[in-house]
Amino acid sequence: MKIICIGRNYVDHAKEMNSPVPKQPLVFMKPPSALLVNNKPFYYPDFTKNLHYEGEIVLKICRNGRHVQPEFAHEYYDQIAFGFDLTARDLQAKCKEKGHPWEIAKGFDNSAPISKFINFDSNKDSPIHFETKLNGGVVQSGNTDDLIFDFDNLIVHISKYFKLQQGDIIFTGTPAGVGPLQIGDKLEGYIEDQMMIECQIK
Ligand code: ZN
Repeated sequence: MKIICIGRNYVDHAKEMNSPVPKQPLVFMKPPSALLVNNKPFYYPDFTKNLHYEGEIVLKICRNGRHVQPEFAHEYYDQIAFGFDLTARDLQAKCKEKGHPWEIAKGFDNSAPISKFINFDSNKDSPIHFETKLNGGVVQSGNTDDLIFDFDNLIVHISKYFKLQQGDIIFTGTPAGVGPLQIGDKLEGYIEDQMMIECQIK
């Protein structure tokens, strides 16, 4: 399975990073070893001093496809989850500065804590509200209505380059409010009013 991720897919987050709003989806990947499931704790790695959370809606791919056409894109995902795209912001800044790939800053072990998946009716097209809580307080409040590239757009774009395979997952981007984590912090992710995931930073 692949873990495909989209960067800067909410205008307010691109602004807080002082990054331009992309004209095409910004695609990167994490390896399967990045997954952290079952609310397991995350151990703060020693290679960063500025680990950030990014709360995101994650899609699960339910059928194989290449070069998916827009009118069929909604048929390729039927479940969503809440995931954290954990990012070593200091390493990422160095990679960006040098024009290097940023995998070490975003694809390291356990950098993708993820909740269980819930069914999602992709025909309905109803916006999803989601929140990140840090130590009980809301730090990110997002709505998929504000996506620059919506789910169907992402399916079309990604499948031009990478064959989508059943079981692949897509991190669809984070809204504003990203920030640093400390050892002892508790992260939680909500979809609507439902607590989906908690992750203790150890
Ligand atoms: Zn992200």
